[in-house]
Amino acid sequence: MDVIKVGDLSIEIDRKDIKNAHLEVNPPDGHIRVATPLQMSNDAVRLLVISRITWIKKQIKAFKNQQRETKREYLSGESHYFFGKRYLLDVVHSHEIPNVAIKGNQIKLFVSSDSTRDQRHAVLDNWYRNELKSEAANFIEEWKSNLGLEHVEWEIRKMKTQWGSCLPEQNRIILNSELAKQPYHSLEYVIVHELLHFKIPDHNEEFFKLLGSKLPDWRSLKEELNYRLPYADFE
Ligand SMILES: [Zn+2]
Repeated sequence: MDVIKVGDLSIEIDRKDIKNAHLEVNPPDGHIRVATPLQMSNDAVRLLVISRITWIKKQIKAFKNQQRETKREYLSGESHYFFGKRYLLDVVHSHEIPNVAIKGNQIKLFVSSDSTRDQRHAVLDNWYRNELKSEAANFIEEWKSNLGLEHVEWEIRKMKTQWGSCLPEQNRIILNSELAKQPYHSLEYVIVHELLHFKIPDHNEEFFKLLGSKLPDWRSLKEELNYRLPYADFE
């Protein structure tokens, strides 16, 4: 595997029998790998990297944000995102069953006074997941009928490298649990994209034409998500 330098970035080049080059920025440190067709030169890879440099730098920044996020303590005053909006966490000590509620610009986290960091994290995560479930269910119902699909299985998973994926043979789409922190239009985009794979499995011209007829601003929706993580280009 060749390694080239572009500015202060190291790029691993993995040449194989493929048609198109594919660039990815990988967690946790943002190292960059380009899979290329066998005959692609180092100079051509360098140009490819330079043409994507803004996106690459945003990815690396996103990893740093994410690392910061993993250091969160789930204490009052921290910022947490919910469907694209920033809220301040307010931890409220309570003897009741742990619970979460939105109030104004706060996410209220009701937990016992001796709760650990991991317990607070779990309560919040579980709440995110339930909220995402009900929002996703609405979008899926709406788009299922729009696209004339009959039966769709779906689930929410923690995923490292994808916002969503589609398993056509199982009639199933999978949504990244982190979508609970993204704007509603991002969730909708991922759902429409994955549902369309039941009609067209590949990312070919036909796929993007159909996508464009359903969501005319899909390009900016996609870009926005790419800036915000999962980590490989969403294509
Ligand atoms: Zn896709």
